[in-house]
Amino acid sequence: MALLQISEPGLSAAPHQRKLAVGIDLGTTNSLVAAVRSGEATPLVNQFNKKITPSVVRYTKDEIIVGEEALNQAQLDAENTILSVKRFMGRSALDVAQSYPELPYQFNGSNEDLVKIATPQGDKTPIEISAEILIELKRQAEKSLGDELQGAVITVPAYFDDAQRQCTKDAARIAGLKVLRLLNEPTAAAIAYGLDAKHDGVIAVYDLGGGTFDISILKLDKGVFEVLATGGDSALGGDDFDQVIVNWFKQHIELPEKLSPRLRRVLKEQAKAAKESLTLADSTIINIELDDGKLVSLELTLDVFNELIEPLIKKTLIACRRSVKDAELDISEIDDVVLVGGSTRVPLVRSKVESFFNLEPRSSIDPDEVVAIGASIQADILVGNKPDSDMVLLDVVPLSLGLETMGGLTEKVISRNTTIPVAKAQEFTTFKDGQTAMAIHVVQGERELVKDCRSLAKFELHNIPAMAAGAAHIRVTFQIDADGLLSVTAEEKSTGVQSSIAVKPSYGLEESEILTMLKDSIENAKDDVEARRLAELKVDAARLIESVESAIEQDSDLLSQQSLSELKDQIAQLKQVTELDDADLIKKETELLEAKSQDFASLRMDHSIRSALAGQQVDEI
Ligand code: ADP
Ligand code: MG
Repeated sequence: MALLQISEPGLSAAPHQRKLAVGIDLGTTNSLVAAVRSGEATPLVNQFNKKITPSVVRYTKDEIIVGEEALNQAQLDAENTILSVKRFMGRSALDVAQSYPELPYQFNGSNEDLVKIATPQGDKTPIEISAEILIELKRQAEKSLGDELQGAVITVPAYFDDAQRQCTKDAARIAGLKVLRLLNEPTAAAIAYGLDAKHDGVIAVYDLGGGTFDISILKLDKGVFEVLATGGDSALGGDDFDQVIVNWFKQHIELPEKLSPRLRRVLKEQAKAAKESLTLADSTIINIELDDGKLVSLELTLDVFNELIEPLIKKTLIACRRSVKDAELDISEIDDVVLVGGSTRVPLVRSKVESFFNLEPRSSIDPDEVVAIGASIQADILVGNKPDSDMVLLDVVPLSLGLETMGGLTEKVISRNTTIPVAKAQEFTTFKDGQTAMAIHVVQGERELVKDCRSLAKFELHNIPAMAAGAAHIRVTFQIDADGLLSVTAEEKSTGVQSSIAVKPSYGLEESEILTMLKDSIENAKDDVEARRLAELKVDAARLIESVESAIEQDSDLLSQQSLSELKDQIAQLKQVTELDDADLIKKETELLEAKSQDFASLRMDHSIRSALAGQQVDEI
């Protein structure tokens, strides 16, 4: 047997050199932090020795309370105790106020702005509130691990859009956490089961939590996960199971017409406890103390419970069917099913999911912990503890990258959210006859006009052979490596002359600036489309003027005096209207010039054919 090695005091090697990184499941109802310790991914415990910390933040005048304690005070101070803040991430004040009219919070912020919630410590954004949860998790982790964290992988729902992801990143930054990566929750669950080692396959992740149901269809291709489809119901979860039990109870026991807040709470709590005990038992007794002190009790059997929740489970399966269809797959093509979320402990959920997919779902890892565990495995690799790991690491381009074209327009070459590394090429051409150089302007952003985007770099391509406008083929290639470094190369295809430049697209750009740029692009979408149309029409007009003028210069002798002056007049007319910002007028005058120059074009064509034929023998043709 090999001897165990012990290092000299103060010179200890491996274990203490490991960098500390954690995986965080920042959940709607509950949050969890996990880390890889001695090669094993395990959830860390909080001050109450529990792995789960409720995602609840209570603000008092001089205190911020997070987790279990805050949850216990929710009844007492509903207005200032924020539950399920994740629902508000990246959403506007108007949107939130319309979606959740029944919530006890005071929502502030003007309609289009990100929502704010009034607290005794002033208005707080969902970003700041989420940051409080992350601060608490970070504190727990550093206490458990005994040192400062180097970074974290934080999970987000697969359907989270860019703004919601950005908000999550901002929250982490406020909490002083370095985000190694945001990871999709279903992908994290699949990683926890080691499914990424399988190389390829299709995986369905069924996540039934407290208030939400998510189904994700993932495709694993050469170790890389791709989200094929997501679906679900943002208002369906374990809370609804509790509610159907409460309703059933009310049907069988006579209760006062109007329930006191205390009785309502007790009913809910007892329903939840009954539901959870039915995952192990065949029946349970629900005991309720009425307001007058009288005790009532009723037996709930597993069979009755199953009947009550069956319609709810059916709803989840309808969403599953739709997502499988969205992924353009047949149910038989799903290779693996993974269960996530506390409510998948319910036996009927498991059996229904099993018969729907005709596969035994993966459930050996605690469904509450599986997402955090997967995130911690990824964090351990990202922080550099497993240099030989071949897990492919995915990142995406935060904002589109493109080029300036004529008229100050942007042409996107790589669109945002494309996974890196990536290379894409597009062909461009010259605007003028005989043009031998081209200015390449690399821009970043979602807006249609260059002036509204961010300028990244400019360079020039020279020695393009002189050709007619539009004849040269300039191939511009954008390449982004795994570190996000962009290089742009322009090449003229016939001669191979090249020019290139390297840029770091995200350098110097704060995440909040990215967010602002995205918000601007959404708000200005309509104006941008109009501005783009105008600019395009101006470019078309200029191109036509350019080509007719150059034709006149070469072949004016083919035209009668009258035709020539008519053509010149129309050119002057078009030049004049392009000074104005009236798209329809420019279009009209451009079409007129096109029509008027058509005869001239055919005359030139005939002429060039005739001169080419001149001197040739008839039999040569
Ligand atoms: P979220 O993803 O929304 O943060 P969780 O995954 O933590 O939520 O799931 C919480 C839900 O799981 C609650 O409705 C809770 O009652 C339910 N749950 C937890 N344990 C059990 C159990 N043993 N049986 C049935 N439901 C359970
Ligand atoms: Mg969850």
